[in-house]
Amino acid sequence: MITKPPVIEKWQKKNKFGRPGTPLTAKKIAIHYTGKADVEGWRTVSYFNNVVANGYKVNGKYIYASSHYVIDLDGTIYQLIPTSEICYATNSANSYAIAIEVATTGPDNHYTDKTYKSMVHLCAWLCQYKGLDCKKDIITHTDVVGKAYKLCPIYMVKNPDKMAQFKLDCWNLKAGKITIDNIVNCTAPHKTTTTIPKLIKVIQDVNFHNAPDFKSSSVVGVAKVGEVFTVVDIVFRSDTNMYKLKSGYYITASTKYVQKYR
Ligand SMILES: [Zn+2]
Repeated sequence: MITKPPVIEKWQKKNKFGRPGTPLTAKKIAIHYTGKADVEGWRTVSYFNNVVANGYKVNGKYIYASSHYVIDLDGTIYQLIPTSEICYATNSANSYAIAIEVATTGPDNHYTDKTYKSMVHLCAWLCQYKGLDCKKDIITHTDVVGKAYKLCPIYMVKNPDKMAQFKLDCWNLKAGKITIDNIVNCTAPHKTTTTIPKLIKVIQDVNFHNAPDFKSSSVVGVAKVGEVFTVVDIVFRSDTNMYKLKSGYYITASTKYVQKYR
């Protein structure tokens, strides 16, 4: 069982712009990004609770917006709306989704290590609490509205392999296969080796692929912690290199996931 992560409660007053009080039966968890890298998440909390909730017009129209949770750059988790009520974050999914707004960092809007750890902890715990499946029920805002409407969270939409790894990390934490201390931030810039080891050992569960890419469509299975594989080749890629294994499958060469064994 996962313990509930520490949450700072910043309950929004009931109001028609962000907290209408409509009951929610949560079927999905939708991930969002706060919109501008390296801006603290508490500013988003304050915007929802102290600006939007009081009635705020842009171009003559009231803004209707809120989020159940906001995760900050330092990993702090704020909760604004109870998960038994709807919020206004995910368009047509508002009636069935818990929303999490997450602060991002860097030009690509990836996550700090502390933010990533809190995302995995909160999502894994929410899946446990609401009886959801981490691999199927954690979605992006873009999954609901489409890419033409909004890329949200932009890093995860542009890097679907990282979204897949994030869901796998949540699944592994919920299943007790890793602990909170073992969570590795898959979105941080990677160190990769360029020499080819004969054998590698898996130090964090990671996907196998049937092609030298990180697309979810090429995933054929999961390499488990402690397993050892024979490497026959390396594929140099602009982001993260991959090893070709004796089985013909490909796996990341990131030292966060695999280490030279011999
Ligand atoms: Zn969004």
